[in-house]
Amino acid sequence: MANQNHYDVLIIGAGPIGMACAIEAQKANLSYLIIEKGALVNSLFNYPVFMTFFSTSQKLEIGGVPFVTINPKPNRNEAVEYYRRVAEKFELKINLFESVIKVIKNENNFEISTLKRNYTANNVVVATGFYDVPLLMKVPGEDLPKVTHYYKDPHLYAFQNVLVVGANNSGVDAALETYRKGANVTMVIRSGELGPNVKYWVRPDIENRIKEGVITAYFNSEVIEINENEVIIKTPEGIKTIKNDFVIAMTGYQPDFSMLRKFGIDLPDSLCPAYSEETMETNVKGLYLAGVVCGGLDTHKLFIENSRVHAEMIVRNIST
Ligand code: FAD
Repeated sequence: MANQNHYDVLIIGAGPIGMACAIEAQKANLSYLIIEKGALVNSLFNYPVFMTFFSTSQKLEIGGVPFVTINPKPNRNEAVEYYRRVAEKFELKINLFESVIKVIKNENNFEISTLKRNYTANNVVVATGFYDVPLLMKVPGEDLPKVTHYYKDPHLYAFQNVLVVGANNSGVDAALETYRKGANVTMVIRSGELGPNVKYWVRPDIENRIKEGVITAYFNSEVIEINENEVIIKTPEGIKTIKNDFVIAMTGYQPDFSMLRKFGIDLPDSLCPAYSEETMETNVKGLYLAGVVCGGLDTHKLFIENSRVHAEMIVRNIST
């Protein structure tokens, strides 16, 4: 009897790109399974509830399924709906809420272990993204419950003293949304200006709120300590202590490098995992990378729109 837990391709992660890989595998008549540690498109599920994508709907499409929205840029809720409908349309084979903890390369195949069971596969695709590991500020008090690296809903912060760390899209969105729900918002920004990729339609809003002084922004500044009722920041004008109830640290994310290393993937000094740009195959034969995980520490290099092509590249290489 054939091993029911054996697949031509086992895909780790049911983000948009893991799903795109499954669709391509299905089209090529390969047996496959996606294993996802959380909900379908778990990263998008955990995005702020009112988030608007910087990409147009069309650029977020996978499997040739049109993503129809009234506004050119979809929001998080529309995207979650879209990807769920895509999974339904293709009847994708996905095991949700199952974490992959081990991938071992044997002579003839891979052995994959999750917290629930074991599998074997001829090929493995790692499409695990970068959203599960925040970049820490490494300051005292960062582990207090009032500090979050995952901003979700502005209502929580109404009438509270909020410190937002960082001024890329996530930081700017968090500052504006919480300000509009009545929070007293201060921003601490390491560089001398707002992030270069801030959405073009959001930039004037934040610039004007800072200019009129309803949001206080400290540029060239950093947090040095977080306490129960205050934060201490270093600014060009000296050390300042600010009353504080919540810290929203939008300092970025990074792939789970320890997991990649455990799977046997080489990580040069740049922390950009080793893979072929033609085939997406890593230094381990049959082990592929797909999606934003490929960018390593450079999380602004790859998006859905420019990494969905990985799916076709991988399946083409497996099928030939
Ligand atoms: P992810 O969507 O992160 O999927 C990875 C999946 O792997 C997750 O579901 C995770 O739970 C799962 N996983 C991880 N480890 C394991 C494990 N051990 N076992 C099983 N499952 C595991 N990109 C755009 O193109 N346009 C945008 O407008 C845009 N806006 C963004 C806004 C924000 C706030 C953020 C943070 C990112 C944004 N991005 C955008 C980037 C975009 O979200 C990612 O490019 C996209 O989610 C990447 O898809 P992915 O499938 O590579 O990874």
